Amino acid sequence: MKLNFDVIIIGAGAAGMSAAIYLKRFNVNFVMIENNAPGGQINRTAKVENYPGADIIGGPELAMKIFQQTQNLGIEYRYGDVYEVKKEDDHFIVKTDVEELTCKAIIIATGRRSKYLGVENETKLAGKGISWCALCDGPFFKEREVVVIGGGNSALEEGLYLAEICKKVTIIHRRDTFRADKVAQDKVLNHPKIEIMFNSEVIRFNEKNERLNSVTIKDNKTDEETIIPCEGAFIYIGFGPMTDMVKPFNVTDEQGYIIVDENQRTKVPYLYACGDVTKKELYQIVTATAEGAKAAMAAIKDISK
Ligand code: NAP
Repeated sequence: MKLNFDVIIIGAGAAGMSAAIYLKRFNVNFVMIENNAPGGQINRTAKVENYPGADIIGGPELAMKIFQQTQNLGIEYRYGDVYEVKKEDDHFIVKTDVEELTCKAIIIATGRRSKYLGVENETKLAGKGISWCALCDGPFFKEREVVVIGGGNSALEEGLYLAEICKKVTIIHRRDTFRADKVAQDKVLNHPKIEIMFNSEVIRFNEKNERLNSVTIKDNKTDEETIIPCEGAFIYIGFGPMTDMVKPFNVTDEQGYIIVDENQRTKVPYLYACGDVTKKELYQIVTATAEGAKAAMAAIKDISK
């Protein structure tokens, strides 16, 4: 049977595009499939300050630079929303909303999507004041008051970005210490436009004329409730992996992250994963790109056997 490709890369974020660059150098017949703009989570990051060689760069700009590099190399990039991956005999079948493709090996680089809090009115007011992307929606709240929920690097760094645009930013965090690194913490703690509510949980988003106009928070030490007026709320409480399409292969942990070995191989032969979709310690652009390269090299080695 003639297969469409040797390798299919699912996802064109930092990991997927890096895998593509490495596959191309070995003349592999492959395609990169993506259901969104190339760049993945980098597109939702205002500033990247820790990617070697790039100094301080806007997320979308870095994403575009990597994508441009893939296009300069002549890498094939296709739109497609992959909903099923199957193994049949010695090949895989990849089904997208536009086509069905076959290949010898697959590299999963689908990344993660933002988590929801699961509180009252969150879904109803999504896009009506509630957002998961400061870079995309922050400019709508120029000189307005907004809240940011979360205590990790994303919450603090995107909070700092919002403080450049908005009148006031209140960071709401459920504990009394941040998870983010010290540099981000120091910047936030010393910022004149940022207020911090520790030990606080959002219990409800409140609306006026079908738009967000405040959040109700509860102090989890005293149970005291407070209403914070705000027109925007940015939720940064972490991400969950996008691995529905590989569930039948039983390669994920209980949270859905794909388990790989040190060379990005899953326990299923010819199935690899890299970047934020995998179970690991460090979720960074620099680790995603390195893992993309390793997944590509493992696939090249295996298919040439
Ligand atoms: P994260 O590090 O997992 O932090 C999530 C934050 O949300 C934590 O503070 C957590 O609180 C809070 N949270 C989780 N579930 C919650 C809930 N149901 N209600 C209220 N709060 C909740 O996620 P992230 O900040 O998106 O970062 C993800 C990964 O990317 C991390 O490894 C991070 O280091 C990395 N990252 C790095 C950079 C950078 O290096 N410049 C930038 C962005 C992200 P607790 O602390 O109490 O658990």
